[in-house]
Amino acid sequence: MSDKNDWIAFDKQHVWHPYSAIGADLPTYPVVGAKGVRLRLADGRELIDGMSSWWCAIHGYNHPQMNQAIRAQLDEMAHVMFGGLTHPPAVALARKLVEITPATLQTVFFSDSGSVSVEVAMKMAIQYWHDKGVPAKQHFLTIRKGYHGDTFGAMSVCDPVTGMHSLFADAMTQQFFADAPTCFFGHPCNRDGAKSMEAQLRENHEQIAAVILEPIVQGTGGMRFYSLEYLQEVRRLCDQYGVLLILDEIATGFGRTGKLFACEHAGVTPDIMCVGKSLTGGYMSLAATLTTEEISKTISEGEPGLFMHGPTFMANPLACSAALASLELLLETPWQKRISDIEEDLKQGLAPCRELPQVEEVRVLGAIGVVEMKRPVEMRTIQPCFVEAGVWVRPFGKLVYLMPPYVISREDLDTLTRAVVQVVEKCPI
Ligand SMILES: *Cc1c(COP(=O)(O)O)cnc(C)c1O
Repeated sequence: MSDKNDWIAFDKQHVWHPYSAIGADLPTYPVVGAKGVRLRLADGRELIDGMSSWWCAIHGYNHPQMNQAIRAQLDEMAHVMFGGLTHPPAVALARKLVEITPATLQTVFFSDSGSVSVEVAMKMAIQYWHDKGVPAKQHFLTIRKGYHGDTFGAMSVCDPVTGMHSLFADAMTQQFFADAPTCFFGHPCNRDGAKSMEAQLRENHEQIAAVILEPIVQGTGGMRFYSLEYLQEVRRLCDQYGVLLILDEIATGFGRTGKLFACEHAGVTPDIMCVGKSLTGGYMSLAATLTTEEISKTISEGEPGLFMHGPTFMANPLACSAALASLELLLETPWQKRISDIEEDLKQGLAPCRELPQVEEVRVLGAIGVVEMKRPVEMRTIQPCFVEAGVWVRPFGKLVYLMPPYVISREDLDTLTRAVVQVVEKCPI
């Protein structure tokens, strides 16, 4: 960090960022510290975080209880292989996850990222049907506008158009797609609303191992909130056609939508569930795939009698300790009240955007506030506008959105929403 401009210049020429180009003429801001809901840039400026580092940092940054939990584990053991060995943080975390997720989910497979937990879920579904004597069930059905990660299996179930992966289409397994739900959250959805899903299942269920989707909130694929009755109908159809249901709670899990897990809005229980992102409060990379006793038993008693996956860093003790501390912090606070207060403030604070001609729609659910523009925003200009307003907001496509840490104060949230209104109205985007 000797010469500020030197390391930033090196970054531009040598370091890839998410969905980035080397040498691109887009601003990348050097961040050197973070505390509470504030990111500190190298030039001393502070930005209020509106992103929770992509759904993760629910308790903000540099939290003393989180730091302490990781330090304590560090003094015991930073890492140890999980093959043939087990350790207290992994078991305590698994116990907690089994306790707080829907009751039928009884076993936990730890992995290092959300995408991998989706791969694991897909492999579990295929292996389950293989062991049931139905080896033709090797494909998946999903809804358009979804996002499940960047690895090949996960990519194959992302939206084929907006999923950012279409150039890999020939290298991916072809899956089945139903229309994205058009009955939105807070509205009813009759059987007609799921007719595309039903048609796909009717025609292709013999090849389909599972339906995979994000419950209630389609995140990165469009920030859409859909009807809980749609999810209930999907569950019913899965049972009718003998297909498993995988719910990807990686973005929605741990309170973000106002329920601990988004599937609770609909009272729907999946056969397999993925969690990640805020699992460790944004401290470490960790994800998990939970499944039912029926599935884990079938796989364990079938042929070859093992589940065929095993990451090197499976159940990393530091990450498990971070997750335990994060869950403790979350569950010991009145988080539901926090989220509903944030929801109210987002609704009020973003409401003025509705009047702007550039804006298509404003929608809020839990601690997620979305301003959908009529046209895609220009990152080159909008990003500096937000930084100048003292906030960290990272739009994509037509979507300008906020998902702040749960610990944000009213005042800071007000600054965030006012910045969004001001930037959307005045910034030349
Ligand atoms: C972010 C995300 C993933 C992928 O997780 P990574 O940790 O980035 O691999 C999968 N599904 C959903 C719903 C996500 O939001």
